[in-house]
Amino acid sequence: MKPRVSTLWAVIAVAVAGLNASALAGGECCERAAKEDAWCGTCKHGFFAGVSIHNKKLHDALSGKEIDRDKLECAGCKEAVKSGGACAKCRVGVIKNRAYPLAAHAVLVGERADAEKSKCEGCRKAAKEGGWCESCAVGYVGGRSFKDRATFGRAVTSHKIITEAARTKCESCAVAMLTDGACPACDVTFRDGKAERETAPPE
Ligand SMILES: [Zn+2]
Ligand SMILES: [Zn+2]
Ligand SMILES: [Zn+2]
Ligand SMILES: [Zn+2]
Repeated sequence: MKPRVSTLWAVIAVAVAGLNASALAGGECCERAAKEDAWCGTCKHGFFAGVSIHNKKLHDALSGKEIDRDKLECAGCKEAVKSGGACAKCRVGVIKNRAYPLAAHAVLVGERADAEKSKCEGCRKAAKEGGWCESCAVGYVGGRSFKDRATFGRAVTSHKIITEAARTKCESCAVAMLTDGACPACDVTFRDGKAERETAPPE
């Protein structure tokens, strides 16, 4: 019995080590990219809030767009630029003059957290697993910390959408999932990360 158990543990340990290795594939260049939520041109894959992304279009969408203030016509967007908030109508959130898909914005509004160095054990655990530390009243997800429970809740939901989009095989579905858009090829529309409706197939 004993050898079987230890073999099982060995298998699990290898699987976990494999996961870690693939998350940081490519070494230093990717480690830097992971820290900056950037695309690693050398290894042709990117990172966003700890999620490994192979779809360049998805990574571009997550990275947001520079806002041209003079061309801004939507009142909600103008307000979002002023307050660093979101425009519900256009489904974008603004940080430092860049417009992001709502899901990306919800994660990016958190403060970059290096909870591994935290003195609080609850925080270290929460940061590892993406959870809430009751004693410090702070939540962690995607390498960021959140002091407000509602904001944290939105970040958790959004991080799930981003993770799912990163796993989606169809590149244009992945982007549509993030931007509340449509994928004409698959004939599907997304809202808040969920496929909302499929139009009737053409006759
Ligand atoms: Zn790399
Ligand atoms: Zn707007
Ligand atoms: Zn704590
Ligand atoms: Zn598709």
